[in-house]
Amino acid sequence: MDKLQKTKTRVYRFGNKTADGNSSMKNLLGGKGANLAEMSLIGIPVPPGFTITTEVCTEYNELGKEAVLKLIKNEVEKSVENIETIMGTQFGNTENPLLISVRSGARVSMPGMMDTVLNLGLNDDVVIGLAKKTNNERFAWDSYRRFIQMYGDVVLGMKPESKDDIDPFEEIMDNLKHKRGIKLDTEFTIQDLKDLVYDFKDAIKKKTGLNFPTNPWEQLWGAIIAVFNSWNSDRAIYYRKMNGYPADWGTAVNVQAMVYGNMGNNSGTGVCFTRDAATGENVFNGEYLINAQGEDVVAGVRTPQQITLLGSKRWAELAKIDETIRAEKYPSLEELMPEIFNELNEYQKKLENHYRDMQDMEFTIQDGKLWILQTRNGKRTGAAMVKIAMDLLKEGLINEKEALLLIEPNKLDELLHPVFDPKALKKATVIAQGLPASPGAATGQIVFFADEANKYKNTILTRIETSPEDLEGMNLAKGILTARGGMTSHAAVVARGMGKCCVSGAGSLKINYKKRTLTVDGREFHEGDWISLNGSTGNIIEGKVATINPTLSGEFAEIMELADKYAAMKVRTNADTPKDAQIARSFGAQGIGLTRTEHMFFEVDRIKAMREMILADTVKGRKQALEDLLPMQRSDFEGIFEAMEGLPVTVRLLDPPLHEFVPHQLATQKDLAEEMHISLEAVKNKVAELEEFNPMLGHRGCRLGITYPEITEMQTRAIIEAALNLKEKGIVAKPEIMVPLVGTLQEFSAQEKIIRSTAKKVFEERNDTIEFLVGTMIEIPRAALTADLIAEKAEFFSFGTNDLTQMTFGYSRDDAGKFLPIYIEEGILSVDPFEVLDQEGVGQLVEMGTKKGRSVKPKLKVGICGEHGGEPKSVEFCHRTGLNYVSCSPYRVPIARVAAAQAAIKE
Ligand code: ADP
Ligand code: MG
Ligand code: MG
Repeated sequence: MDKLQKTKTRVYRFGNKTADGNSSMKNLLGGKGANLAEMSLIGIPVPPGFTITTEVCTEYNELGKEAVLKLIKNEVEKSVENIETIMGTQFGNTENPLLISVRSGARVSMPGMMDTVLNLGLNDDVVIGLAKKTNNERFAWDSYRRFIQMYGDVVLGMKPESKDDIDPFEEIMDNLKHKRGIKLDTEFTIQDLKDLVYDFKDAIKKKTGLNFPTNPWEQLWGAIIAVFNSWNSDRAIYYRKMNGYPADWGTAVNVQAMVYGNMGNNSGTGVCFTRDAATGENVFNGEYLINAQGEDVVAGVRTPQQITLLGSKRWAELAKIDETIRAEKYPSLEELMPEIFNELNEYQKKLENHYRDMQDMEFTIQDGKLWILQTRNGKRTGAAMVKIAMDLLKEGLINEKEALLLIEPNKLDELLHPVFDPKALKKATVIAQGLPASPGAATGQIVFFADEANKYKNTILTRIETSPEDLEGMNLAKGILTARGGMTSHAAVVARGMGKCCVSGAGSLKINYKKRTLTVDGREFHEGDWISLNGSTGNIIEGKVATINPTLSGEFAEIMELADKYAAMKVRTNADTPKDAQIARSFGAQGIGLTRTEHMFFEVDRIKAMREMILADTVKGRKQALEDLLPMQRSDFEGIFEAMEGLPVTVRLLDPPLHEFVPHQLATQKDLAEEMHISLEAVKNKVAELEEFNPMLGHRGCRLGITYPEITEMQTRAIIEAALNLKEKGIVAKPEIMVPLVGTLQEFSAQEKIIRSTAKKVFEERNDTIEFLVGTMIEIPRAALTADLIAEKAEFFSFGTNDLTQMTFGYSRDDAGKFLPIYIEEGILSVDPFEVLDQEGVGQLVEMGTKKGRSVKPKLKVGICGEHGGEPKSVEFCHRTGLNYVSCSPYRVPIARVAAAQAAIKE
């Protein structure tokens, strides 16, 4: 082991208004640790503790348990001493014990993904000391049974592995509740708790053969290692994959003095948000429970109460609870503990101002004293994201650039999905009401288990409550419905993070997992029945409800305007029809970067003419068929040019190999032969003739236009005539004719000659002209390498990064599905290069092509039209490379606009 490894700091302390770290150190300390340090620095009361860095997690993965414990032993022991000094208690001491929590915390928050152990340091002796010291035997034993349960789950492997396995601890508790005729954990007597401790330990011994560790230090080392291990748990891996977080980030471990929310009715615990995470509304909100610890609020075991009076009243209205009952049974914290509430309110304001973003906080009240246990930038829906960014800007807390940087471009996608048609909603039958946990519209068939979420095409995952194990199914389902749990329940928090529609805490639902039924008001629904969820109102609706497309308005429109103000690049769209062009334009597309003409030939009435063209044996026959196609193409172009009035439209000449257009089935071949009055044999021969071993590298792109110049002629004529026709109507069309799959200057020149002479001919015929450009796609590596030559003739470049990726990697796009998933699984590739532009390799060709092209024509217009044009990281790359525009599918235009602005701001 080298010296550096020994001397580097692996443990960072916080507490008592000081800290070794701060909020900028998230990569090293994890988000939780960095923010605990920061809160301590700005005077927020956090229980003292320390953070073991994420680097140690990586060291653990390399070196193993023993070596890593050796590396941190000294620092950890010293840091525990530091907690002891601040708290005036002692770890392992039976008279005056210090208990600690061991908490995971990666650099990004992964709610519920990894593990936490509370009340660590208890054993049969310490528990008695704790009871004596606090004069609260019930509290001491409650803490002990919680500790054994959590430690058993997290460290000793007691957690059930599949849905059929019963959680042994839950089972023991349920049995005891049943025997004693009680419902709530809080109803257990002290003797019950003692019995539970005994039975829990017994269950651990039976299942694992292990004695529960009594030495607090042994407990601590075990918990630290378990937190490191949780980074590689299945659900953490799945979550990382879903969000594209690399495995080598690792998690930090936070060790912190316990504060107790379960000390009686002057204690409690809760979760709160500085703004509404579902809608973005600027109201402080959250939930709490009296006499409870940590996870109780999110676990949905008891019905949590609202923190603010406003929130409490809104909640009661939805839950149909009468005001007097609300005030008596479910008072808000604001009413119940006004002083604590005021203090909490101060902190939430202070934290939001400090972080200048919406905060999601955890707190605990121990015997009348408030402690803050966590703060982080809150997860939110796409709609809330946009509203919060614009509100913070208007409130003067952040500037325009910061507002744009608060937008996660991909999350805008949620705002582009269909919403319920208000007309259909009026006629809908509402069967029950829950909490509007995560907005959106979802229609699907009921399933009751997360691992059956793909049983039907559209499903509504219907659960009593959800847990981290359900993550994958929640992601697959169209919507999530729970009978239990509040606005901060697992289901609600996770659904908001995913931008998935969720209705939670619909108490009137009776769910029977065994019978797979959902009963409400005497009516029974079964697995497979259709229901709809309105995540914005909490309504649960019978059957399907029609949806309509959303519009870009309000704050969404405002943020888009800001994006265009800061973006250097333009955003165009890939569109083959006037309808797509219109949609894209309504989302702010500034032109079309790619119109694929071949799509126009696949429609029923056209494919016939196309086939005739292909099957023709002579140039004359081919020209005849092309003449039939001309008016159809022309009217297509008119429609698209009109939709994009005044904006540039790049039209790509015919690209795919001809065999894609001919029929391959005998019956269709027969029909064709009959229609064309030729023999079936002739059709079959032609089809066989067109067959290629490797069509992707075959007779396609400009190779078609070169061998069949009359195709290029017809397409050019259709484009120019369409533009001239519109000109007569006073509509400006700006066509850019693009030659595909060019690898040499000569290929381009040959096509350009045909295009220009055809255009000239049309201009003469019509005695009128329009302006147009002739350029090329750069999608063959050789074109990028010789871009300076091609740029002498070409008026613009558009990088076709789909083909360029295919040809640079040598991966056939059609066949890569067989090995790419394995490559990603094995870490040979970190992402699919067809989804995220490979900046390291393919990116070099884009850079080189741009540079070489502009060395000849400094103002050469350069864009990109592959799938990558709507992927934020790739958009950023295009900006850095100096491209003039990116082009993407219509629904990704808003995403690309924000990504382009962010790229310019980050520069
Ligand atoms: P997660 O990331 O899943 O929220 P946490 O580490 O934040 O996990 O902890 C789980 C719960 O335990 C939270 O409610 C938290 O507030 C509570 N908790 C953690 N540490 C302590 C502590 N030292 N004292 C009291 N409660 C704690
Ligand atoms: Mg937490
Ligand atoms: Mg291509």
